[in-house]
Amino acid sequence: MDVIDVFPRLQMFRFRIGQAYLWRDGPELTLIDAGTVGEGPAIAAAIRDLGHRPEDVRRVVLTHWHPDHAGSAAEVAAWAGAEVLAHRLDAPVVRGEVPGPPPVLLDWERPLWEHAMTVPPAPPTHVDRDLADGDVLDFGGGAHVVGAPGHTGGSIGIHLPEHGVLFTGDSVANVGQLMLGTFNVDRARALESYGRLAALGADTACFGHGDPLVGGAARALRESAEREAAEAARPTPSADRDSRLEVENRGPLTGA
Ligand SMILES: [Zn+2]
Ligand SMILES: [Zn+2]
Repeated sequence: MDVIDVFPRLQMFRFRIGQAYLWRDGPELTLIDAGTVGEGPAIAAAIRDLGHRPEDVRRVVLTHWHPDHAGSAAEVAAWAGAEVLAHRLDAPVVRGEVPGPPPVLLDWERPLWEHAMTVPPAPPTHVDRDLADGDVLDFGGGAHVVGAPGHTGGSIGIHLPEHGVLFTGDSVANVGQLMLGTFNVDRARALESYGRLAALGADTACFGHGDPLVGGAARALRESAEREAAEAARPTPSADRDSRLEVENRGPLTGA
C-alpha cells in the first residue's frame, strides 16, 4: 500500500486496485473507504507513521459496497469500534444480507471487469448507520452526503464544502483520463450523478481510482461530465477508449 499526501490533513492510501482516504480533524480520524480485505495492518501502520493511533479512527464512510472499497472496513472497525456508514441502499450488501447486483457491462468494459474480479470478496461487515442523500456528517467541518446512484444503487459522494473537497467514490474515475466510472448498474443514472457531483464546484476531487485533482477540479469535472453526456447521446460510443485506461495502480504518482 502506498501513502500519498493530498493535503497535510488528507492522505490517499493506494492499494493494488482502488484507493481509500484518511481525513484528519486534529486527533480525530475518518476513513473514506477502506480498501480490499486484509489491508487493515497496512492502514494501521500508515496511521501510526502519521503520528496517530489506529484507535483514533472514529468512522469509516463507504462510498459504495464494492469489495475494493468495503473490504477492510470490518478490520478497521475492530480496532476500537469505529462507526461504519454506508448509504441505505448499499448497506444490506455490505452487511452480506443480499448479494451485490452485477454491473451492466459495455463491450469495452468486459476485459477490465475480468481484471477487477481479481479483487477478493469483502466479508460481511456491520453497518452502524444507514445514510441518505442530504445527511451531514460530523467531520471536515460538516461532510455532506451526496446521493450519486448509478455505479451502484447506493453510491454516494462526500462533499466537504468548507474545504472544497469532494470524494467521488467510483462515480468518477481519473484513470488515464477524467471520466465516468466504469462497471455501472445503471449508466444513464450514473451520468446524471456525474453531472450532480460536478455541479458542486469542489476545488479538489478524490476518486476511487486514479490520481486526485488538487485545485481546479470543478471546471475539469464539469467539462468531463458534459463530454460524457454528449458522447452517450451519440449512436456509437468511441471504440478506442480501452487502450487509454488503467485499472491497476502502478508506480509512484507523477505530477499533481
Ligand atoms: Zn472501485
Ligand atoms: Zn466500484
